[in-house]
Amino acid sequence: MNMRRGIPAEWRRAWSELLLRARQTVADGLVVGTSGNLSVRVGDAILVTPSGVPYDRLRPRDLLVVDRRGRPRAGTLAPTSELPLHLAIYESTDAAAVVHTHALHATAVSTLVDELPPIHYMTAALGGPVRVAPYATYGTEELATHMREALRDRTACLLRNHGTIAHGRTLRQAYEHTAQLEWMSHLWLTATSSRTHTPTLLSGADLEAVSAKLVAYGQS
Ligand code: 13P
Ligand code: ZN
Repeated sequence: MNMRRGIPAEWRRAWSELLLRARQTVADGLVVGTSGNLSVRVGDAILVTPSGVPYDRLRPRDLLVVDRRGRPRAGTLAPTSELPLHLAIYESTDAAAVVHTHALHATAVSTLVDELPPIHYMTAALGGPVRVAPYATYGTEELATHMREALRDRTACLLRNHGTIAHGRTLRQAYEHTAQLEWMSHLWLTATSSRTHTPTLLSGADLEAVSAKLVAYGQS
């Protein structure tokens, strides 16, 4: 496909935002090397990172777009091997962006529990206690099926022995959900490393109160 002509301006803008966020996952230590992947949806077009290419090598001309079924719409590089995860989220939610990482503390938690205990009120910002999807090989439909179940009524989940996946109404929000999940995982590991104390946890009622309040959080 000709990559100079006929590329909508909104795709070009979304691609440059996707590259900035992708590089941020490396800069913020959420992934190492070419681990992880991101996507952003513009209408029915899904812009995705390619498989196995370091983000600092990606240029505007590498724009990669698929439709909701994963069929190519623009670009020549092969899309991320985790396309089934991204497509499953766009199919089952109204999300406009997805971020997948191998963040260290979150991945450690994924090997220890079935659910990240509600140790902090920001659990509510992710829809409730974050579940761990059972392990399956990366890039498989089986992993997408497990993820879909773990994501029910949540904006993030952990993938056992693998990493994180989060979605949002914007790429910024999907990234924010990922960063909060990694931070809460770090918090839980820190608190549970005490030899003498066990961390207190929040109740369902505590989280519901926060959910109601977060709706109006920040500047109007
Ligand atoms: P890709 O390079 O194909 O996106 O794979 C990275 C990854 O994290 C697989 O789970
Ligand atoms: Zn991965």
